[in-house]
Amino acid sequence: MTAMEQPSKLIDKFGRHVDYIRLSVTDRCDFRCVYCMTEDMQFLPRKEILSLEELYRVAKVFTELGVKKIRLTGGEPMVRSNVMSLIEKLGALPGLEELLLTTNGAQLDKYAVPLKAAGVKRINISLDSLDADRFKRISRVGKLERVLAGIDAAKAAGFERIRLNAVVMRGYNDDEVVALTDYAVERDIDIAFIEEMPLGDASDHDREETTCSNDWVRGVIAEAYQLTDVTAKTAGPSRYVRIEGTNSRIGFISPVTHNFCADCNRVRVTVEGRLLLCLGNEHSIDLRAILRDQQLTDDDLKQAIIASMDIKPERHYFYDKDYQQPVRLMNMTGG
Ligand code: SAM
Ligand code: SF4
Repeated sequence: MTAMEQPSKLIDKFGRHVDYIRLSVTDRCDFRCVYCMTEDMQFLPRKEILSLEELYRVAKVFTELGVKKIRLTGGEPMVRSNVMSLIEKLGALPGLEELLLTTNGAQLDKYAVPLKAAGVKRINISLDSLDADRFKRISRVGKLERVLAGIDAAKAAGFERIRLNAVVMRGYNDDEVVALTDYAVERDIDIAFIEEMPLGDASDHDREETTCSNDWVRGVIAEAYQLTDVTAKTAGPSRYVRIEGTNSRIGFISPVTHNFCADCNRVRVTVEGRLLLCLGNEHSIDLRAILRDQQLTDDDLKQAIIASMDIKPERHYFYDKDYQQPVRLMNMTGG
């Protein structure tokens, strides 16, 4: 068996194989989206965040344990200083089949070509509105034209299956789901609609009132387009449909209304080096303490990661009666 065929050594007590990590490279961002952050976010001091070398070591150890897919996220990954040097090293990591990135797109006009050259396979770009004023209301500081230029640059750089991510919120952008779909269809790219998750106390709105169910979003789009379920199941929370007569697909990421935990194949590493076993729970272990202990080796790191599988929760409980909302915000979680 070659290294590429090695099955993941990370198996939790419910028999789920973990072969995907979301690695947060910063908690900082040049936007302040209402669902993700507070307006006056305090970011972590430098000494508390993993260095680029530590992030690389974490990624390497995970691939040696059988992880095949790493998505870089944050915060906004592209605001981390010198992040391209990390991405270039990750692109050459043996055993890693897919290096992916989630970004707000604001700097892609500069970085799309180097990201492609470094080996990033696919990019998800967040886009919640096509109206400049609304875009500003949602992102608080973002400029729509920068993101649209970034999407064009990612297309021109030749990335396959670019996917837009839109968080749909009632009263903010719920009347734009068809326009956003049109925009994706015109560019031959995919789009995913994401239900807003209750993580941290991010904003001025009551999420139970603004969260739109994806069943509703799908119903609205189905009046404009013929949608066909894609039967091949993707590991993870997205359920895809094909838009007939186009090259685009729509993903529905429905953490609030559809529990997808039985298929969970992923864990998250925050930029503080906290290995989070579940998005909606606080179960975690501190990898930074191991990374910074001179007495401990990569083998110790691996043993700790393997052992952590035992505390991976069976599921999240968003809005269940006893749901305890994690205090961490999405930018700290690694979206
Ligand atoms: N800055 C990058 C971006 O915006 O794409 C990457 C990090 S961001 C935290 C990753 C994804 O999480 C984005 O698509 C964003 O829309 C989504 N997100 C943030 N907060 C969320 C929340 N409370 N519920 C659902 N999705 C959220
Ligand atoms: Fe920044 Fe992304 Fe969070 Fe928006 S969703 S504030 S772009 S990290």
